[in-house]
Amino acid sequence: MFHDECGIFGVSGNVDAARLTYLGLYSLQHRGQESAGIVTWDGETAFQHRAMGLVSGVFSEEVLDRLPGSVAIGHVRYSTTGQSQLVNAQPLLVRFQGGPLAAAHNGNLVDSSSLRAGLEAGGSIFRTTTDTETILHLIADAYSRRGGRTTADITDVLTEALAGVRGAYSILFMIDGCLVAVRDPRGYRPLCFGRLESGGWAVASESCALDIVGAAYEREIEPGEILVIGPEGPKSSRLNGEEGPKSFCIFEYIYFSRPDSIIRGVSVDGVRMALGRALARECPADADIVISVPDSSNSAAMGFSEQSGIPHAIGLIRNHYIGRTFIHPRQSLRDFRVRIKYNAVRDTLAGQRVVVVDDSIVRGTTSRQLMGMLRRAGAKEVHLRVASPPIRFPCFYGIDTPTREELIASSSSVSEIAEFIGVDSLGYLSHEGLLASVPPPIETYCVACFDGSYPHEEAHLAGSEVGTFQNKDAGPTGRETR
Ligand code: AMP
Repeated sequence: MFHDECGIFGVSGNVDAARLTYLGLYSLQHRGQESAGIVTWDGETAFQHRAMGLVSGVFSEEVLDRLPGSVAIGHVRYSTTGQSQLVNAQPLLVRFQGGPLAAAHNGNLVDSSSLRAGLEAGGSIFRTTTDTETILHLIADAYSRRGGRTTADITDVLTEALAGVRGAYSILFMIDGCLVAVRDPRGYRPLCFGRLESGGWAVASESCALDIVGAAYEREIEPGEILVIGPEGPKSSRLNGEEGPKSFCIFEYIYFSRPDSIIRGVSVDGVRMALGRALARECPADADIVISVPDSSNSAAMGFSEQSGIPHAIGLIRNHYIGRTFIHPRQSLRDFRVRIKYNAVRDTLAGQRVVVVDDSIVRGTTSRQLMGMLRRAGAKEVHLRVASPPIRFPCFYGIDTPTREELIASSSSVSEIAEFIGVDSLGYLSHEGLLASVPPPIETYCVACFDGSYPHEEAHLAGSEVGTFQNKDAGPTGRETR
C-alpha cells in the first residue's frame, strides 16, 4: 500500500473545460509534483493526456487542443514507494458497460488490498497499483447489478459501490457525461466547488484553484456528499443517510494546503497565524528577531512575531526553481541538499538571537541542517519553535509520512531532539494549542499523526512499514511536496 498526496480539479458545462482545468491544476501544484493529467468528454468521446512531471511541462497548447469538450477532470500526483510509473498517473480512464469512466482521487483507502484481493478472486484484472482502480471496478460491478445504462442512476451506483470502501477519498468522476464529486463520510481531505463566471461549474481540492479560473466559491462539498454536475447544474445527495463522525486532516491547515485557500470556512493563512500566536504564548523566547522557514511557516512566523512583539525578519531565502534533479558537486559539500534549496541572509542574522518558526518536524534532518546554516551565518542563539505538536505516528490517509521509526519524535524526547538538531532551545505547540487555533468542533479532526488515535482500526494494525517519506531536502530522486 502506498500513499498519495494529490490535488484534483474538475469543470462541467464550459467549452473551455480542459484549459480551465489546466489552470486549476497549476494552483494545486503544491499538492503533487510527480505527474499530471486531464480527461475530457465532448459528448461522444473521452480524451486523455497524462505524463510524469509538472503541469507546466506536461501540457502545451497543442496538447490542450487535443482535449475538447465541456466536461473535464484533472489530477496532480505525488506518490511514494516507487510506484510512480506513468501507468499510475491519474485521472484513470476506463471503458465499461456504461461508457467511458474516469476518476481523479485524493486520499488513501485503508482496506483497498482486501477489496482488491476480493475483486481479483472474482476475475478482475488490474492495470495499475492504485487503490483508485479498485473503486472503478466496484462502480462497474454496481452498475451492472443495477441493470446497466438504461436503468442505473449514477448516485445509486456510487452509493452502492462506495458502501464498503473505508478511508480517505475526495474523488472526481467523469461518468455518463457528468462531473461527479464525492467526499468520504469522514471528510479527510478537502473539496469545494464554485460557479464559473464564464459559465458552468468548477470543483477543486482547494479554493485557491477556483480563484485562478474566475469561479465564485460556492461552498465545501460536505463529507459523505455526492454532487452530480450535469447539464442542469449541481444536484446534491448523500452517500449514506446517517451522519457519522468526521476526521478532517488537521495537517492540511498546518502544512499541506496553500495559505490563500479557504478551508472549512476559514483562511488557511489565518489559522497558521493563530498557530504562531499560540506558539508564542506557550513557548516564549528571549530573542532579537523571528524568522520563518519559507514558505510553509511564513504565516506562523508572522503570528509568533505579532504575539511576542519580536520583529519579523527574512533570515532564510528559498530557491523556487530547483526542479526534480540536480547535479551534485564532485567534492562532497556539506548539507548540499538543504543548501540548494535554502540560503541564509548573513547581514540579518549576524550577532542576533534568532527565533526560527517551522510548521513541523518530521525526521529532523532538514531542521538540523538549517540550524547549522543559521549558525554559520553568524546567528548568536537559535531558538526553534514548531507550530504543531511532535509527529509520532505515520499517516494512512493521504499525507506522505515516513515509517514510525524514522519519525524523530516517535522515539526521542523534546530535549533529545533539541540536542540532535543543535538548537539553544526547542518548543512545540501543544495539542490543546493546536486544537484551539482551528475552527471548531475539535472532535471533527483527524489528529492521528500526533496521538495515534486512528479513525480506522485497520490503519493502526497495518503496522509501521507503510510509507517512504522523502522530505523536502530529499535530493535527486526525492520529491518536493510543498
Ligand atoms: P524533516 O524534519 O527534516 O523531516 O523535515 C521537516 C520539514 O518538512 C518541515 O519544514 C515541513 O515544512 C516539511 N514537511 C512536513 N510534512 C511534510 C510532508 N508530508 N512532505 C514533505 N515535507 C514535509
